[in-house]
Amino acid sequence: MNDSTTGADQGQTLPGGAGEGTRAVRAGLPEPVKHEPTLPGPVFAAHFHLPGDPTGPYTYGRDENPTWTLLERAIGELEAPGQDDVETLAFASGMAAISSVLFSQLRAGDAVVLPDDGYQALSLVRAQLETYGIEVRTAPTGGDAQLGVLDGAKLLWIETPSNPGLDVCDVRRLAEAAHARGALVAVDNTLATPLGQRPLELGADFAVASGTKQLTGHGDVLLGYVTGSSGEAMAAVRRWRKIVGAVPGPMEAWLAHRSIATLQLRVDRQNATALALARALRDRSDVTGLRYPGLPDDPSHKIASRQMRRYGCVVSFTLPTRGRADGFLDALRLVDDATSFGGVRSTAERRGRWGGDAVPEGFIRFSVGAEDPEDLIADVLRALDESAG
Ligand SMILES: *Cc1c(COP(=O)(O)O)cnc(C)c1O
Repeated sequence: MNDSTTGADQGQTLPGGAGEGTRAVRAGLPEPVKHEPTLPGPVFAAHFHLPGDPTGPYTYGRDENPTWTLLERAIGELEAPGQDDVETLAFASGMAAISSVLFSQLRAGDAVVLPDDGYQALSLVRAQLETYGIEVRTAPTGGDAQLGVLDGAKLLWIETPSNPGLDVCDVRRLAEAAHARGALVAVDNTLATPLGQRPLELGADFAVASGTKQLTGHGDVLLGYVTGSSGEAMAAVRRWRKIVGAVPGPMEAWLAHRSIATLQLRVDRQNATALALARALRDRSDVTGLRYPGLPDDPSHKIASRQMRRYGCVVSFTLPTRGRADGFLDALRLVDDATSFGGVRSTAERRGRWGGDAVPEGFIRFSVGAEDPEDLIADVLRALDESAG
């Protein structure tokens, strides 16, 4: 049997110092094999030939899959370039990845610190953790407020920038404080992507993310991952994935890997346009609460510029009323009224329609796509004018 078609080889090694675009297009590729594709296609298998003792790497499709192996290697190369001691696990969704870290690391009687302004579903997770006898403390993302509730905690969960408020906290400072108290640190890296921020380099034990958003970027895949540096902690996460079976399908894993090849192109385009859009919105009297961590006068910018290399594709702002926000979304022609973010086609939504986030009725979360910046900005300014009329 040819090992390289199963992804069981050690993969290609990039020249030291390879740039991010180079890394993105080559991440996770196996050694070239004559007559084989560069990125092997998805391996659809519930089970693998397994005579004799049941040893890995590939035994049963809920434990391992060669298409995941290549994707996990690719994500690991982006989250922790040059670090061979990290492990990455792919999941069926971002929530599967998040739950697997929380539920594998925490026991009854433990305390965990969660953001009170993070991803919506965290409040569901909180309720579930509490039914298991885990103490949940919360703190806002901005201002490093987590420091005040860290004593005796087992795990600190950070989401920076936070979704949808776009506040930022100082990962290095918080990780040092948490480790001094014996707590593990996980960072939700969804909004930044590994090209925007590398939590493990900033001291976190886990980088956790939804790959559904800008990592894969086409709005057609649900995916999650956990990258971690502690072998023991990652073994527990792996065991949890096996127990709950929250595994990605081979097709999704392959689509994700294929999409990562264009990650640098997409984030550079989308994030540059996000900054241009934020600048265009700054001058409007009908826009308040404008947030984009890349804006030099944004409250998040000072810390963001120290720990982020790119500032994301999400811009948030508030229009005077719910009706005005709905009218604006309705008047947009190049922007879909839809949730989620990070895709090549711009989306926007009135976030308050879901309930759950502490945002004003007119709050808009805007995800900038890969359209020509002048087209997109013209569409937004026209929709603002029309909805004012
Ligand atoms: C979307 C999102 C998640 C959840 O990811 P799914 O893939 O939808 O399960 C978690 N965290 C953040 C910050 C998100 O934006």
